[in-house]
Amino acid sequence: MVESINSALQAIQLEERYGAHNYHPLPVVLCKGEGPFLWDVEGKRYYDFLSAYSAVNQGHCHPRIVRALTEQAKELTLTSRAFHNDKLGLAEKYICETFGYDKALFMNSGAEANETAIKLARKWGYLRKGIQDNKAVIVAVKRNFHGRTTTIISASTDPTATSGFGPMMPGFVIVEYDDVQALEKALVDPNVCALWIEPIQGEAGVYVPHEGYLREAARICKDNNVLLMMDEIQTGIARTGKMLASDHEGVRPDLLILGKALSGGVYPISCVLADDPVMLVIKPGEHGSTFGGNPLAAVICMEALQVVKDEKLAENAERLGRVFRARMERLISKTKLITKVRGKGLLNAIVINDSSESETAWNICLAFAKNGLLAKPTHGNIIRLAPPLVITEEQLHECCDIIEKSVSEFTV
Ligand code: PLP
Repeated sequence: MVESINSALQAIQLEERYGAHNYHPLPVVLCKGEGPFLWDVEGKRYYDFLSAYSAVNQGHCHPRIVRALTEQAKELTLTSRAFHNDKLGLAEKYICETFGYDKALFMNSGAEANETAIKLARKWGYLRKGIQDNKAVIVAVKRNFHGRTTTIISASTDPTATSGFGPMMPGFVIVEYDDVQALEKALVDPNVCALWIEPIQGEAGVYVPHEGYLREAARICKDNNVLLMMDEIQTGIARTGKMLASDHEGVRPDLLILGKALSGGVYPISCVLADDPVMLVIKPGEHGSTFGGNPLAAVICMEALQVVKDEKLAENAERLGRVFRARMERLISKTKLITKVRGKGLLNAIVINDSSESETAWNICLAFAKNGLLAKPTHGNIIRLAPPLVITEEQLHECCDIIEKSVSEFTV
């Protein structure tokens, strides 16, 4: 029998004592979730405004997704890709048709999907573009976040992500984000195989590029025979008000990288989508993962995406995003504590009027929690606000009231 927790403090102390200190969580201990809500072990209810970094777009424990998981778990969970299974092909067909690509490659975490895309881009560079062996370059942008593996952090410009973890992997060139001229310059290098970007930089603090940037990036890639590698792990699956954030500008990446909400938060599932000339550069034995493409993940992924379509979550995110930003703009006109709101759909952030080293944003999040809403600063003085997309307008207004009340408890 597994031991159970008898207090929030005990849960926190156990993590502190036996867990690695690689996160700095808010001091709440959660034990239940449903839709946009979370409950702590003391029975207090919160609105979730992080959504597990946008993995829970469909809401916590969505009954259809949980049913798909439990029914499949009783039949078959894992075969490895050494054999075929009766669900993987169905999920591949479903996801290819949903996003309009020839082929899909399932992995588990977002970082693994990015690693997969890097390998595909490099191999494509050698086999199709004719880049000399080991000379392939991937252009990434400042402030990017694509995950935590040693290769991925080699393209990071965040010292917290890189310090002490060298040596870094060569083969990345970093340019300014949201700068078309920088792309024009960097992508003419014949050794460049791919441009690697997030359509909105979520982790960095919800930086939205100017209208037209993604379209121009796609054009410059095409002009230079460079693959556009779009990391939609956080922005995809309806979060920004369209199925993909790239859809806002009618851009179709050559490599589409998805994760998080592919499972509605019940299981780690990630995926790379591409057309045959790119995907088929990888041959049997050259890439894989024991769990990637397992039948449990396949069934969950199909149901999670179908829920997004059936419940029109992109439309809800688009509509409620406007309501949310309008409420925040109104709040900004009444307080000096918040200087800005930015975002698309229900991926938004507020910027706190304080230095990024100060504790103000953290303390505001503590006040949010006291008043029944969970959010966390991302990069110092920026608080990301991203509820599950199943939230209703009435609930969203209640959340804005909580934010207003919490802000009013601070003076600047
Ligand atoms: N890419 C983006 C844009 C992300 O936001 C994240 C996680 O926050 C990742 C990649 C990494 O995903 P994972 O934590 O599942 O490895």
